[in-house]
This record gives sequence, structure tokens and C-alpha cells, in this order.
Amino acid sequence: MGMFDTITLDPAIRCPECGALETSHQTKEFECLMSYYRIGSVVPSSCHSGIIRDQFWCRACQDADRQAVRPLYLVIWHSVLAAVELDAGEAERKLRETDRLDLIGWLADSQREALRWQGKFRRLMSGLNAWQRHLREKANPEPDCEKSRFWSRSLSLPDEILNAPDPLAEIIKLHSKEPKEDEP
Ligand SMILES: [Zn+2]
Repeated sequence: MGMFDTITLDPAIRCPECGALETSHQTKEFECLMSYYRIGSVVPSSCHSGIIRDQFWCRACQDADRQAVRPLYLVIWHSVLAAVELDAGEAERKLRETDRLDLIGWLADSQREALRWQGKFRRLMSGLNAWQRHLREKANPEPDCEKSRFWSRSLSLPDEILNAPDPLAEIIKLHSKEPKEDEP
């Protein structure tokens, strides 16, 4: 009831009426579980390969009392969302011309994206583990020895985080940034 899925439009689709750019499209053509899809996503559709006629809706046109709804075509190629088009002829061309090279490109994109998120998660977890270790050591200081000094030096958080009013918020802030190109 009232649920939908969202397709991220990249490139954005320009409303032919007013020129406004839409960067996402809400659809009820899949499972309506508030999931996100993009070009190259495997989509849960009863259509294996073909074109689904959906509806494009422009908020700017709606607000200005212009025609806000027009057909939008979802191109499905072997269960993969291959294109989203306003023009039926263009949708047919994309369905005809999509091939395995496109698939390899989408596969590479999705693997890069998975690695990026795994890296973000790993760095966040190591920050949270270091914070937990810091609290544990503060509550139960270990006997001072070479080994414990080594571990606390190599695994501890920087002083600006430890001395911040809310260290946990600082850790989350630090790891919500995108890593630089040369970082793992
Ligand atoms: Zn418009």
C-alpha cells in the first residue's frame, strides 16, 4: 500500500515539457519494497527481456499545472535493467543493441561499488573496535609491558578523537568521508 521502488537515473532524465532534471524515478513495476535500483541492476520483474511501459512524473510541471505525467519505458535485458527512456523508439534500440560488453561494464561497476562499501565498513569497524578497546583499557588497565605498549600504540585512536567531547560521533564523522584515491 503506497510502497514503491526507486530507480536512480544516471544520467538524469530531462522533462521534455519544462526541462527540469529528474535524478530518480519511483516505480511500482518491481516488488515495491522501497529498494533502490540503477542501470545494470538485476531487477525482480516478471519481464525477462522486453520493455515495460511505466509513468514519468515531473514535480515542476505538476506544480505549474502543466502536463506532468507521460510514458516512460523501462528496458529489461535478461533480467537486468538496461535503460530508462522517455522515447519508445530509443527504448527499442537499447533493447536491441545491449550486449555482453554492457554486462561486463555493469559487473565491473558493481564490483567497484561493493569494494568501496566493504572498505568503508572495514575502516568504520576498526575505529569502533579501537574505541571499545580504549574504554576497556581505561576500566581495566593492563600491566605495563612491551607487548601491551606496542598494541596500544599501533591500534589506538588519534588524540583529537579521544579528547573530543563525543569521540563516537567523531569516529562516525571521520569514516563517513570518502577515502582518497590512494587509500585502500
Ligand atoms: Zn516538467
